[in-house]
Amino acid sequence: MRLSRSLIPTLKEVPAEAQIASHRLMLRAGLVRQTAAGIYAWLPAGLRVLNNIADIVRTEQDAAGAQEVLMPTIQPATLWQESGRYEDYGREMLRIRDRHERDLLYGPTNEEMITDLYRQSIRSYKELPQIAYHIQWKFRDEVRPRFGVMRGREFLMKDAYSFDMDYAGAVVSYRRMMLAYMRTFQRLGVKAIPMVADTGPIGGELSHEFIILAPTGESQVFYDAAFEEVDYSAANFDIANPDDLARFFETMTTHYAATDEKHDLEAWDKVSPDRRREGRGIEVGHIFYFGTKYSAAMNFAVTGADGQKINPEMGSYGIGVSRMVGALIEASHDEAGIIWPDSVAPFKAGILNLKQGDATTDAVCETLYGNLRAVALYDDRSERAGVKFADADLMGHPWQIVVGPRGAASGQVELKRRATGERVELSVEDALSRIGVTNA
Ligand code: ATP
Ligand code: MG
Repeated sequence: MRLSRSLIPTLKEVPAEAQIASHRLMLRAGLVRQTAAGIYAWLPAGLRVLNNIADIVRTEQDAAGAQEVLMPTIQPATLWQESGRYEDYGREMLRIRDRHERDLLYGPTNEEMITDLYRQSIRSYKELPQIAYHIQWKFRDEVRPRFGVMRGREFLMKDAYSFDMDYAGAVVSYRRMMLAYMRTFQRLGVKAIPMVADTGPIGGELSHEFIILAPTGESQVFYDAAFEEVDYSAANFDIANPDDLARFFETMTTHYAATDEKHDLEAWDKVSPDRRREGRGIEVGHIFYFGTKYSAAMNFAVTGADGQKINPEMGSYGIGVSRMVGALIEASHDEAGIIWPDSVAPFKAGILNLKQGDATTDAVCETLYGNLRAVALYDDRSERAGVKFADADLMGHPWQIVVGPRGAASGQVELKRRATGERVELSVEDALSRIGVTNA
């Protein structure tokens, strides 16, 4: 994209309403704009990040054998009356009435709807197990929306739902999703640690929150560095193999990890001091086994092998896709701006034309842009060099290609790596190959 023709409104001033770094930087880098409390419009650069995250989430869900669907944002109240949650959910639910006086709601989550969809069509144990997921906007009328997209009212979530014939099967689905999550976070370029969470009336150990480490996180977390050394790749764990999943789950649950609420000093003391890690954390995902809660309440039963009717065992698995944008920035930024991990950056590279209007400089920039059109943001504005440097650092492109008149005359550009600050002078061809694009 050409910056001179883009809706990427960078700000020099620090917005007064933003309390944490990611919120400030998302506004300053022109990723989002608030349209109402806790509701955001995603501008081109922000949307590219959101889509990149969603694509990684999708790839790992698919690889885990989950199938993608798309359920609507608007749901009928009747489904929630069946589960009993229409009353229970309280004021976080946005309730709507249509012209025929029918009660609707903007979905805060989708357990009821997915249970209804399975109940309409799945009759036999032979059709299970299954996992379905979608990536869809949710609405929760949070009392105190804050920190930008981290706690919005409208937010994008990936939510998956598993259906199994028995508890043993549900455990396998749970572990499979957990491994998919670890791979997802690894590809997103962040450290995420699974921590045991409350299971409520269900009991047991099958509820985990995934916490990303960042200084501004909402909770204090404690964990064993061993989590960082696990090889989550397919070479180590075959996600289709229940024995591998058992070995994986064992690894995840034997190492110590807890948020302050669940911190156990006695267990912490047993972790060798050189492996103790402590910090603030942001919840980016939550997985949960809840048995037959919805299948029983909503009369979803399938025929078992012996002809008996069985309510499938269910689990649900959420990742906050839009919250992740903020969390990634919290985990990776400096004084000057965002430092995007390569895998989610809106633009792989920024091309900085230091002398717009100079024939040689323009020509070199156009050559670069011709090769990088899909992945670069070309700063072709008639702004001072200082403004372009500051904006490129703010926007956080992993690579900056700086083109000035002197270098351009001899075909040289400067390549800067945002994360390390390292700069090298090289030819246009070498710059392209260094950032992984070969000159066409
Ligand atoms: P929290 O404790 O932060 O309110 P939750 O327990 O209500 O989260 P879940 O219902 O488990 O969240 O939803 C799954 C994921 O959706 C969360 O892990 C989080 O990443 C994301 N999420 C939940 N609420 C919001 C929100 N208001 N804004 C942005 N993302 C959210
Ligand atoms: Mg909540």
